[in-house]
Amino acid sequence: MTTAIYPGSFDPVTNGHVDIATRAAALFDQLVVGVYDRPQKTLLFSTEERLSMARVALQDLDNVEVKSYNGLTVNFARSVGARVIVRGLRVLSDFELEFQMALTNRKLAAELDTVCLMTGQEHTFLSSSIAKEIAMVGGCLDEMVPPHVRAALKEKFHRLGAQADSKVRIVSIRE
Ligand code: ADP
Repeated sequence: MTTAIYPGSFDPVTNGHVDIATRAAALFDQLVVGVYDRPQKTLLFSTEERLSMARVALQDLDNVEVKSYNGLTVNFARSVGARVIVRGLRVLSDFELEFQMALTNRKLAAELDTVCLMTGQEHTFLSSSIAKEIAMVGGCLDEMVPPHVRAALKEKFHRLGAQADSKVRIVSIRE
């Protein structure tokens, strides 16, 4: 039985991630999606939120489970008995970083291999960051993220907007 992991920030999960997970689930016996606890990125959603959104997005794939992890990705792979790390490729610029990461991970754990899967054409220019930017200004996300993620983004920015508003109001009252 071959188990693979698909690690990432998933802040939040997008249709591009679902595309890669679906392709990987068809190739490997078991796929464990790893939601990285503390990536070197500014996150919008908590680990719990990212985990639960990814779980709902991938619930129809029988051989996929979603877990969070911290520390080295290779240690996460070993802990679930995986020998493959799946990553997604969109455009040429993804390649350099993925190549560098794959070789670093191989140095850390020679028994693991990285498999990069090409995204569907419709997701080429889709990333969590782009989805967040569009959500922030109230744009249409229909083709980009599953409906529950759309709702979560709307709710998050609504709350953040309300917080920003109240700060502005407090400042103006003081002035
Ligand atoms: P990370 O912080 O590890 O890059 P991401 O959640 O941004 O986490 O991405 C996880 C993986 O999914 C990466 O390999 C990334 O290239 C891939 N990915 C992100 N968006 C897409 C997409 N639209 N199509 C295919 N792969 C994607």
